[in-house]
Amino acid sequence: MTDEATGGVPNGSNPIRSVLIVGGGTAGWMAAASLARFLEKLDVRIRVVESDEIATVGVGEATVPPILDFLRQLGIDENEIVRDIKATFKLGIAYRDWTRPGDFYFHPFGPTGFGLGPVSFPAYWLKMFLAGKAARLEEYSMQAMAAVHGKFMRPVHAPNTPLNKIAYALHFDAALFAGYLRRFSVARGVERTSGTVRQVSLHPETGFIEQVRLESGETIAADLYIDCSGFRGVLIEQALKTGYEDWTRFLPCDRALVVQTQSVGPPPPYTLVSAREAGWQWRIPLQHRVGNGHVYSSRFTDDDSARSALLATVDGAPLTDVAALRFTPGRRRKAWNGNCVALGLASGFLEPLEATSIHLIQRGIAMLMKFFPDRDFEPADIERYNKTLEFEFGRVRDFLLMHYAFTERAGAFWEHCRAIPLTETLREKIDLFRGHGRILREDAELFPVQSWLSVMIGQNIVPRRYDPMTDVLDSERIAAKLEEIRATVKQCAETMPPHLDFIREHCAAGA
Ligand SMILES: Cc1cc2nc3c(=O)[nH]c(=O)nc-3n(C[C@H](O)[C@H](O)[C@H](O)COP(=O)(O)OP(=O)(O)OC[C@H]3O[C@@H](n4cnc5c(N)ncnc54)[C@H](O)[C@@H]3O)c2cc1C
Repeated sequence: MTDEATGGVPNGSNPIRSVLIVGGGTAGWMAAASLARFLEKLDVRIRVVESDEIATVGVGEATVPPILDFLRQLGIDENEIVRDIKATFKLGIAYRDWTRPGDFYFHPFGPTGFGLGPVSFPAYWLKMFLAGKAARLEEYSMQAMAAVHGKFMRPVHAPNTPLNKIAYALHFDAALFAGYLRRFSVARGVERTSGTVRQVSLHPETGFIEQVRLESGETIAADLYIDCSGFRGVLIEQALKTGYEDWTRFLPCDRALVVQTQSVGPPPPYTLVSAREAGWQWRIPLQHRVGNGHVYSSRFTDDDSARSALLATVDGAPLTDVAALRFTPGRRRKAWNGNCVALGLASGFLEPLEATSIHLIQRGIAMLMKFFPDRDFEPADIERYNKTLEFEFGRVRDFLLMHYAFTERAGAFWEHCRAIPLTETLREKIDLFRGHGRILREDAELFPVQSWLSVMIGQNIVPRRYDPMTDVLDSERIAAKLEEIRATVKQCAETMPPHLDFIREHCAAGA
């Protein structure tokens, strides 16, 4: 069979003509915006059903740098969206009291230092660090030094300086972000229906979804279904019974309390994470307010104590009531099951430390585009999609687990964390690092070598020996290079504008 649309090339395909997205939170509208943008040349009807009765989760305000690729790919102007969703810039995460009370370390985005000939920065910095001859890792990171001084700017063309490669992400208001993407999608032909899915019919033989019935009685059928219904997993779990892999044994927190507060000063260009007795607390500065949350384990504290701990440590006056959220860390056994792909919380949730959830939505969408199906739903494509997402969730889980497993904090919760058995993949990472300070990044693993290095060093995971390759450089040359990088980073940080001045000049939200 040939098809004129394919220029006479046999396609043999049975193309998708309709997509139904259930859920209008961050995941639903990110998916709708992407489909509208990338399928615009195809004749595909895209509908989003979102419920007015069921609220969105209302959090998800910190991101990681690939979010900027997402916006660019959609053709969205960064200053325009930053203004619209009252965003600020994020250069990384400051960990306060995490390794032990009184301690501080910074996990910056982007590169730290520069390689020297064949030797990577982490390798030669570690050699000097082990000899007690290097400054703190943060001092070699443009992002970290700018962040702690409250400075921000986008990268500029300044070859051989760290200003060339400033890496950043955004903090934003989750509801405004979803609203922006909704307008973007509707303007590109996505149909929005307000309604609640009450019933899902499956094909008796294939088990595929045939149609959904709304509270109003309306039925909607589609070729491809995207479940963005949040923790409920209305399609992927309630209808398809896909199953959930519970990772509570690796990630100890299962509750969060959230409150928005007034800003009390200029927004710092980073997320602040502070350890607490049975978990941790975030502070995410936006242009118009601050988002705060206390994430904790219900095994080690009760909700009232967690609430008091949160309210006692927020800086500004509360603007909202405290909202309570429960979750089970883990992932859906198959993110893609039959003719249904789950994205966002419907596909799993690890926990918010390191702000990876929106990124995993983005990855799910990117992989869906890569393996975009026809109505035959090729099983090999689905299997590869599921394996890729399983790998990416697993690597993020390992990175998070490392934060909990290696601290020196006292108390039952932190002792419990230290006793958590490491996954095999994390054990291998730690062993490689402890041996000769080696860190490997595999495939599409989110966190680069220098993220692992920052957190490992921040949490006192130290190699026994340095990388023997570094002996190709003499120590004086390394010392001089380190000093040069430190001085350049310091000087560049001093010349950068304060974060708030940058926002005011380029992308300040209206009152
Ligand atoms: C405490 C906490 C903090 C977090 N912090 C971060 C962070 O800093 N960074 C980050 O990347 N991620 C974070 N996340 C995750 C992030 O919030 C989510 O990944 C993101 O908001 C996507 O959510 P969602 O769209 O999947 O679900 P939701 O926002 O819950 O949206 C679900 C949608 O489905 C609709 N719906 C539900 N049932 C039905 C039905 N039967 N019929 C029709 N519609 C239905 C609802 O009305 C809603 O529109 C956090 C999560 C938690 C719990």
